[in-house]
Amino acid sequence: MFNATVLTLYPELFPGPLAASVLGRGAAEGHWALDIVNIRDFSDNKYGSVDDTPAGGGAGLVMRADILAGAIDSISREDRPVLCLSPRGAPLTQSRARTLTGGPGLIAICGRFEGIDERIFSSRDIEEVSIGDFVLAGGEIAAMVLIEACVRLLPGVLGSASSLSEESFDGGLLEYPQYTRPREFEGRAIPDVLLSGDHQRIADWRDERRKEITRTRRPDLWERFLSDGPIRRDKNKEPK
Ligand code: SAH
Repeated sequence: MFNATVLTLYPELFPGPLAASVLGRGAAEGHWALDIVNIRDFSDNKYGSVDDTPAGGGAGLVMRADILAGAIDSISREDRPVLCLSPRGAPLTQSRARTLTGGPGLIAICGRFEGIDERIFSSRDIEEVSIGDFVLAGGEIAAMVLIEACVRLLPGVLGSASSLSEESFDGGLLEYPQYTRPREFEGRAIPDVLLSGDHQRIADWRDERRKEITRTRRPDLWERFLSDGPIRRDKNKEPK
């Protein structure tokens, strides 16, 4: 069972989208579980405040390390990594999600305001993770992104394991284009090869499309694919 614990000032936002569709079913079937900790419960004052003005001046408020430490220490970590959602963190990738899925779960800290007192990161061995080069108002949606990316990879959560084997980022490439009925939509036909029944030709066509899409849309991924393609392909195909 994959255990996700989220520390947040907005517990009412959870489970939100994490309860829908395959993830909701996966939780009901015991593949994963979500716990929410309200950081405000660890406030040391009657106002429930958890933040203060930045040392050195400047705009906004900073979440206090001592209060957050209390919240973290209340959780049984069980070898789970403690990740803090942050625009300064290591960018979240499919392979990172896969690695996390192979472990016991994760603890996610959601920042608010200007962020969190820097001392918490070293004092509690916390790694910062970013979901992209933009700034959100809080870490909650980012935590949901992180958890969803992991949980859908758990065995048994998605209906068919094969839907995971050829999707975007697998083998370092983006996914090929998908089609379904009707056969013709506003004058646009499904490519003939997909209706040919020739599995080898279909596989070759899809492989070509994946490469073309990756090369034109994501030159950064394409460069990496060219330099370490075969090794990467083997590594990523291996389900953890
Ligand atoms: N002043 C900070 C941004 C604070 S945004 C800075 O310039 O780096 C408030 C909170 O939103 C952050 O503490 C973090 O938890 C969350 N957040 C914002 N952008 C994020 C991103 N791209 N990825 C993950 N979390 C993010």
